[in-house]
Amino acid sequence: MKVLLATSEAIPFAKTGGLADVTGTLLGELRASKVDARLMLPLYRGIKSRYKLKDTGCTVEVTVGKEKYESRVLSHEDTSYFFECEEFFNRQELYGDSSGDYSDNVNRFVFFSKAILEACEAIGFRPDIIHSNDWQTALIPLYVRTLYRERFRTTATVFTIHNLGYQGIFPASAMSLTGLGKEWFTWEGIEFYGQMNLLKAGIVAADAITTVSMSYAKEILTKEFGSGLDGVLGSRVKDFTGILNGLDYDDWDPASDPSIPARYSASSLEGKQKCKRSLIEECSFKDKRAPLVGMVGRFSSQKGVDLLLHAADEIFSCGLNAVILGKGEAELQKGLTAAAKRHAGRLFVRTGFDDEFARRIYAGADMLVMPSHYEPCGLAQMIAMRYGTVPVARATGGLADTIDDYDHLSGRGTGFLFSGRWPSALAECIKRALCVYGDREQWKRLVTSCMKRRFLWKASARKYVQLYRELGKRVRG
Ligand code: ADP
Repeated sequence: MKVLLATSEAIPFAKTGGLADVTGTLLGELRASKVDARLMLPLYRGIKSRYKLKDTGCTVEVTVGKEKYESRVLSHEDTSYFFECEEFFNRQELYGDSSGDYSDNVNRFVFFSKAILEACEAIGFRPDIIHSNDWQTALIPLYVRTLYRERFRTTATVFTIHNLGYQGIFPASAMSLTGLGKEWFTWEGIEFYGQMNLLKAGIVAADAITTVSMSYAKEILTKEFGSGLDGVLGSRVKDFTGILNGLDYDDWDPASDPSIPARYSASSLEGKQKCKRSLIEECSFKDKRAPLVGMVGRFSSQKGVDLLLHAADEIFSCGLNAVILGKGEAELQKGLTAAAKRHAGRLFVRTGFDDEFARRIYAGADMLVMPSHYEPCGLAQMIAMRYGTVPVARATGGLADTIDDYDHLSGRGTGFLFSGRWPSALAECIKRALCVYGDREQWKRLVTSCMKRRFLWKASARKYVQLYRELGKRVRG
């Protein structure tokens, strides 16, 4: 079976969030299960200098609106392919900078989606399945049904929603860039309140739609979590499922992670104490004995940074230290910087994307907070558990599916969950965690349970393969 993974980011090449972890790891898992899977990515700045890429000798010609672009196709280990386009991808960031999203994102990802379909023929790869991800590649399933129908008669499409909050919405005038006819600018097509919605293309046109946890699959069918697309998703409910993401347990392993100050495992936790001491020094916390709470993630309203800011006074009155790493919305960044000043010596905030510092937080913190308003799957809590750092999170989406709320009586659980919408709900949940933290033996057992918990990719990859097989059969009749 031949599967093409179309994605705008994938580890190890380019990453801004969980999408990269998922697609990069899925490629490896599929190949390990004897699926001929290939990955296609834009050639972002930095990939060329960090990886030895091979020129495939193929170029593709892509039309975006009235413009024609030629793109060289490069490859890495004959499994990952990259499209060179200086104008679109030779930039500092993937999607935008501090002043906002790049204004030509629609051109960039129309180009990328078409380049992928052109490249299949150029490199001689006839996929049985094209699996595209999020709004950046959501046009592909629609192209396979329209402009590219002849070439992909026997190809089925899978579309995965990693985050319904990002839909790729552009002015109606951008329709002309896609090459699609006006008949698609309707409610049944990709029109969305007078604008063009690229994510909708994946939902209306893919043979199967998946999202990254079972709870999120249920949530986004409701008005509260549907971001305006619950009705459209509801119309495809028969073809819609949740498949939980896994974690790459080789990449995220405190027993071998070279980025952390000391190595450790569930059976020997001394290294974790060393990591904590080192993190306390790095963040210049005054109270060296206080419990240490970490947070790693995008500074976006989704992640509940607002809750944390509003609850800060109450949280810090409990006598804990906190370290926050992230990057994103300027307003939240400003709020966090101000809070760090107010709670100097207790709250350390670093802005930026820093994989090594993230790892030092996962290893050195006692708890990881994830007060997300919604969370499709979430990887940070899985990573935290792997590093013996207890998650404190809202019971939503993948967080609810992967964290078992701690039960004081039985001593069972892998974290602390809350469901209230108010800052005090988060603060109360942290206090509940601190109560258990105060009992060394109980806490150690909890840490060990977290470290033993597994979310294996093998199981998730098997579900994708099963889905691909069913669709393959359906398309071939
Ligand atoms: P999302 O995909 O919504 O951003 P996830 O929890 O699914 O959130 O995945 C986030 C991934 O990105 C994790 O691997 C996390 O460690 C990483 N990450 C997020 N922000 C940063 C950052 N500022 N620096 C380093 N790694 C980060």
